[in-house]
Amino acid sequence: MNPFLVSVPAAVAATAGVAAYGAVFPRAQLFGPTVCRTNSPGKLAITFDDGPNPAITPKLLDLLDRYQAKATFFVIGRFVRECPDLVKETAARGHAIGNHTESHQNLFKLGPSQITVELRLCHHAIANTLGAPAKWFRPPYGFRNPWVIPTATSLGCKTAMWTLIPGDWLERPAEWLIRRMQPIATHAQQNVNSGGKAGVSGTGDVLCLHDGFHKELNYDRTRTLTALEHWLPRWRDLGLQFVTMDEAVR
Ligand SMILES: [Zn+2]
Repeated sequence: MNPFLVSVPAAVAATAGVAAYGAVFPRAQLFGPTVCRTNSPGKLAITFDDGPNPAITPKLLDLLDRYQAKATFFVIGRFVRECPDLVKETAARGHAIGNHTESHQNLFKLGPSQITVELRLCHHAIANTLGAPAKWFRPPYGFRNPWVIPTATSLGCKTAMWTLIPGDWLERPAEWLIRRMQPIATHAQQNVNSGGKAGVSGTGDVLCLHDGFHKELNYDRTRTLTALEHWLPRWRDLGLQFVTMDEAVR
């Protein structure tokens, strides 16, 4: 039996509202520990989901290089097998590669054996491509159930969520997306204003963006690039460091 079935109090498990919160709220810890923040207000962890994407990822790598920015890419296993060289290049340029499952299903609806298959296939795709396994995992849509995080942990992965998910997949103008990313600069400015003492918790943001689309390769994510072109120089001027998830918790 899964230990979580035993350890989650019956009253909690029976409360659908609480379970839904644990399943979808990015910073909920009900179904296991997740990392949602960096350990310093000066560190911003930019993360990209649903790639690799030959139409966007190479341009994104060049843009990140321009600002000496390191990021984390949560990749889909079947796309890794289609574009292994792009994943190799992403890692070679100093970025972290994370597991985003084999085919991007809603894991909340799956049982333990199906979840294991989804995570393992992506895990092996990454390990076979890079010669080293992923150390980070992000569930598709952020959805968890009692088996998701223990399965990631058994593969040696920490689970990464986020503080900000601006919705770059929505069909809105780039200006809209740029406005939605304002909280990062606001937090950084508060930290500058307080002489580094801001942020009650002394933590920084994890930003969730998308360089790919789980249903197809070569999907257009130009809007995401445009918003980053706007913000990267401004964030840099506010003193933010752009770090991988490894550096975010180091
Ligand atoms: Zn995704």
